[in-house]
Amino acid sequence: MHAGSLLAAVGSFLHARASGGYWHLRIDDIDPPRAVSGSAAGIQTSLKTHGLQFDSDPQYQSHHSSRYEQALLTLHEQGDLFRCVCTRTMLGPSGSCQGSCANENPTEMVTGSLRIKVPPNTVIALDDAFLGRQSWHLGKQLSDFIVRRRDGLYAYQLAAAVDDASPFTTQVVRGRDLLDSTPRQVFLQRRLGLSSPSYGHLPILTDQYGFKLSKQQGATAIDNDQPTTNVRAALEILGQPSPPSKLRDSASLLAWSLSRWDPCRVPR
Ligand SMILES: [Zn+2]
Repeated sequence: MHAGSLLAAVGSFLHARASGGYWHLRIDDIDPPRAVSGSAAGIQTSLKTHGLQFDSDPQYQSHHSSRYEQALLTLHEQGDLFRCVCTRTMLGPSGSCQGSCANENPTEMVTGSLRIKVPPNTVIALDDAFLGRQSWHLGKQLSDFIVRRRDGLYAYQLAAAVDDASPFTTQVVRGRDLLDSTPRQVFLQRRLGLSSPSYGHLPILTDQYGFKLSKQQGATAIDNDQPTTNVRAALEILGQPSPPSKLRDSASLLAWSLSRWDPCRVPR
């Protein structure tokens, strides 16, 4: 786990608990080629070391394939899907299909990449817990997007939309790098007749070049031997008051911060 993931963990933990809710961990492991073996266990160890105790057993997206398949079937039966045969170089600037793929309506579920049709007048608006009112003209910005990849794997947007609409999920708190995924997921939830949770997008950490810290970009793992230093740093970036120096363990820092958590202080 790197510092950016810890920031999202601390922010989502405090926001959930301060709202009287539970904090759940989900491992998004639907992309086996990119999954690093042992990383899920490493994340759980790091979270616990930092006093971030989750309230249920972790969920794994790799165990949810039947839900995603059912969702695709529902969308297909509604006539929402089309098969896109475009190559990468044929796609438009936002990755949308520029060809005539949408005109060929498959009568059965076909193999290959599937996109969802977004009607041109589609506007998605919501109140973000930290950013306030957000709205997207999804129909203009992204008139279609991938729900199943060419290699047959479920797209992140589909899996997240389905899992986040679980009746036990009331809030989704995550980094701002996912902000433009949110309207797509809300659109999918509406097409599937599912209710949407509320959303909050936290600041993200970037490297000296302005790129988001990520494992793929080679961000170094946080030091599990320095949990209080790491938690204090995360609280500062989240704009929250500094806990007194006499507090020497991360669980005490979090407990102190929980009663003072103020989403309005999170930098926009
Ligand atoms: Zn296409």
